Amino acid sequence: MTSAKVALITGSTSGIGLGIAKKLASQGHNIILNGFGDPSDILKIQTSLAKEFGIEVRYSNADISMPEQIEKMVRDVETEFGAIDIIVNNAGIQFVSPIEDFPIEKWNAILAINLSGSFHTIHCALPKMKEKGWGRIINIASAHALVASPFKSAYVAAKHGIAGLTKTVALETATFGITMNAICPGYVWTPLVQKQIPDTAKARGLTEEQVIKDVLLAAQPSKKFVTIEEVAALANYLISDDAASITGAIIPIDGGWTAQ
Ligand code: NAD
Repeated sequence: MTSAKVALITGSTSGIGLGIAKKLASQGHNIILNGFGDPSDILKIQTSLAKEFGIEVRYSNADISMPEQIEKMVRDVETEFGAIDIIVNNAGIQFVSPIEDFPIEKWNAILAINLSGSFHTIHCALPKMKEKGWGRIINIASAHALVASPFKSAYVAAKHGIAGLTKTVALETATFGITMNAICPGYVWTPLVQKQIPDTAKARGLTEEQVIKDVLLAAQPSKKFVTIEEVAALANYLISDDAASITGAIIPIDGGWTAQ
């Protein structure tokens, strides 16, 4: 097990990010939560993790589409803890539409949150990480970093961009004790997936049940959703000392989707 570290997980008030925060908390790491949601629900997560695992848990409401808010979040953590040891760039949104109808503000928001946000956290936090000579950066990309699906132009473009960013930063940090990898989940049953079902049904002229069976799970040979716990366990492995030589990897966890 890696000794206790400081881990920032963006978008950790829900879904995969929350699952990763819980897993890393259970390993004794101090956690910086981030994301949107009901303040009283977020406070409950914060206090229950701190109490259950005897760790420090902080929360930042930084909007990951806003570079200056990311910088403030990183500087606040550095002021309190010295450096961020682990960054999990997970915040993300989705929008489903044929490209000719794709709202420009949705394109800009998806690129800002799903791609540029990762650039900004790394840009701000890397100098202190390099000074410490140890770091782990994980981008939660997607099977859509490797293959495309129709009607998801912004998401697929952002996730393919994340794969390029991952490889580039891995090369720049390889001699500093820092690794940078991308986890590429297939479909995981979270609010992000649940919310896209009505629009996908509309774009493809299907019922919502058909979308689940014939679009989402049809992509995955396993015919099962990937679980949040499986993604969190992979993230936990990537931050371990055993994974010190894994860097620049784009790792699918998708029930065989991208093997096809
Ligand atoms: P989710 O909707 O459950 O969680 C998204 C999180 O991001 C929430 O905490 C939300 O508050 C936060 N967020 C959204 N916009 C933000 C912003 N501007 N600033 C800060 N936080 C913001 O979704 P999820 O399915 O858990 O997705 C998490 C990541 O996993 C995303 O990057 C997504 O693309 C990726 N992913 C999800 C799936 C899936 O099937 N669910 C598959 C592959 C990849």
